[in-house]
Amino acid sequence: MAEAAAPADAEPGPTAGGYARFVAKLYFRYGAMNSGKSSSLLQAAYNYEERGQHVLLAKPAIDTKESDRISSRLGMSREVDFLIPPDADLRALFAEHRARVQHSASDALIPEQTAGDRPVDVACLLVDEAQFLTPGQVDDLLRIVVLDGVPVLAYGIRTDFRTEAFPGSRRLLELAHSLEELKTICRCGRKAIFNARLVGGRFVFDGDQVAIDELNPDRVTYESMCAECYLRESGGRLDGR
Ligand SMILES: [Zn+2]
Repeated sequence: MAEAAAPADAEPGPTAGGYARFVAKLYFRYGAMNSGKSSSLLQAAYNYEERGQHVLLAKPAIDTKESDRISSRLGMSREVDFLIPPDADLRALFAEHRARVQHSASDALIPEQTAGDRPVDVACLLVDEAQFLTPGQVDDLLRIVVLDGVPVLAYGIRTDFRTEAFPGSRRLLELAHSLEELKTICRCGRKAIFNARLVGGRFVFDGDQVAIDELNPDRVTYESMCAECYLRESGGRLDGR
């Protein structure tokens, strides 16, 4: 599915300077693991840049799988503009990087993008692995959207392997203007909504939200599952109960 450079449900705002302005919104695109979140993010970034617009890519520093890159299963990969440490003031961090983009215009590094009378700015902030943001950092995403006027596309997993919402995802479900589910299929063919954890090839239903040996993919893996298959494997347990 091709995405419009402006999110599909962006509403035209008041016309200013001869072209319609879009009202910035906070978008949360969530799904189970392997639902193509990173691919969708990289595609959205490409769509903006194809139109000569600047985007910033970020992700929480907690995700150590690929350090400072966003990688899709389809083989696309790209370095983020900044990582978000757990204690970071996200709005201030964003403002720093936004200023860098605005200043790069005066260096005329990309002349075709400085042409015209529209000042160079960040068209969108894209956040991968948004489930690992703190609730306070998600609050900052809404401030960036509403107070700073920059749309934010956040991508993340809704629930952990025990079917409990990640703190960042819970806050995004509460605050986002727009929710979009990215779908993937369970082994039985139904839509997968949960992420079952396997350790050494066996399903486990207790443990930390983020597995300690997440870095060792031979040991800890996940399978996206529908509720029926999940409950069959868990013996009816949800959230460790
Ligand atoms: Zn299933």
